[in-house]
Amino acid sequence: MLKIECPPQNTRMKSHYDVAVVGAGVLGLAHAYHLARRGLKTVVFERTPHARGASVRNFGMLWPIGQPPGPRYRLARRSLEIWREVLQASGLWYDSTGSLHLAYHDDEAQVLDEFVHLAGDDCSVSLLDASAVTRRFPALNPEGLRGGMWSDTEVTVDPRQVIAGLPGWLNRTLAIDFVFGTSVLGYDRPVIRTTGPECRADRLVVCTGADFRELAPQSFAEAGLVPCKLQMMRSAPYGPEFRVGTMLAAGLTLRHYQAFSACPSLPALIQRFDSEMPEYGKFGIHVLLSQNGLGELVIGDSHEYGAAISPFDNSRIDELVLQYLRTFINIPDLRIAARWHGVYVKHPTDLYVVAHPQPGMMAVTGVGGAGMTLSFGLAEQTIHAWLGDSHG
Ligand SMILES: Cc1cc2nc3c(=O)[nH]c(=O)nc-3n(C[C@H](O)[C@H](O)[C@H](O)COP(=O)(O)OP(=O)(O)OC[C@H]3O[C@@H](n4cnc5c(N)ncnc54)[C@H](O)[C@@H]3O)c2cc1C
Repeated sequence: MLKIECPPQNTRMKSHYDVAVVGAGVLGLAHAYHLARRGLKTVVFERTPHARGASVRNFGMLWPIGQPPGPRYRLARRSLEIWREVLQASGLWYDSTGSLHLAYHDDEAQVLDEFVHLAGDDCSVSLLDASAVTRRFPALNPEGLRGGMWSDTEVTVDPRQVIAGLPGWLNRTLAIDFVFGTSVLGYDRPVIRTTGPECRADRLVVCTGADFRELAPQSFAEAGLVPCKLQMMRSAPYGPEFRVGTMLAAGLTLRHYQAFSACPSLPALIQRFDSEMPEYGKFGIHVLLSQNGLGELVIGDSHEYGAAISPFDNSRIDELVLQYLRTFINIPDLRIAARWHGVYVKHPTDLYVVAHPQPGMMAVTGVGGAGMTLSFGLAEQTIHAWLGDSHG
């Protein structure tokens, strides 16, 4: 049974820290982890009583396969290595499910075939024919199935559970202090102004996700970040009789992840999608599915950018997502138990954005739809670039 832990009660603040981290989303937690492992006295401020940003609203897909082969894929693999150490040590639920991209048209199968050849030995992927796919994953729709691309690397976590559970573990094992329900308002080194008691730290790391603008307005304006809204759904839980067995993606995903951009047949595939399924393009829909430890299916998503973002969700998007989902998986008695949206910020070309708005302050954001996957590897990189091998 999956347990969602309450974050630790606010720990007793020391008068002075080596480093303070703003934000207890996945990037804040990953940075705090690496800083404390260097022996730095670390405190994390989170403005809400439980982190509620993108880090608890996602699929829980630790998904290196979404990164193009080469340095980005290697960073994702390194990140996963650290995630595994953290998950094993903390005892938080995870499942080494791998991932499967399905092809129901020849042009989709062609792109997968090209990807596997281009990736070479870089990625641990292989092609499965239709009968191998349905033998292994019986819930999948055999009709029209051309085959799939299997990757054994990906790991599923429950974002609500890990983001709630990690602070307690980080406090117990690395003595990281946490202050929830407290906003950081500004930093006049070493003084941190907050909505609670003042605190001092020699350095400040800002991991405030889409709220980056507030603490570093100038850097935000220069960074060229774009916000993106995604609509999501979660089913009622299924018992052991219905386990999908892996995380799923299908044809529409091939145009979404940069990983596939080098495939020569991709432009023709995108043209077909645009002419046959224009509404999917309009809302940036591709369909992914993961299943958590409670047996709930997490289903999404859409991508609406910048000024197109409405505070209200669009039920047509959910209909389109479910319609496409039903083309590749037969889900018994699907009941949607929760609907929500999340917002992240992304950079048009860079994998993430690091800014140094003032001495002693580093802001990290813009990791878009790959923040869960990249978090621990990215934080290792940013801290190394900032502090080198020293302890700051
Ligand atoms: C719907 C959706 C699905 C996704 N699916 C995946 C996936 O399956 N796999 C994957 O790898 N990535 C996925 N992503 C991307 C990933 O979730 C994000 O990249 C990642 O969570 C960003 O983490 P963060 O810590 O930067 O931001 P956040 O999670 O938003 O955390 C920022 C935190 O800072 C706090 N904060 C802000 N300002 C202040 C302040 N002044 N003082 C104190 N606290 C403050 C906020 O309250 C918040 O808790 C998905 C994203 C979305 C929206």
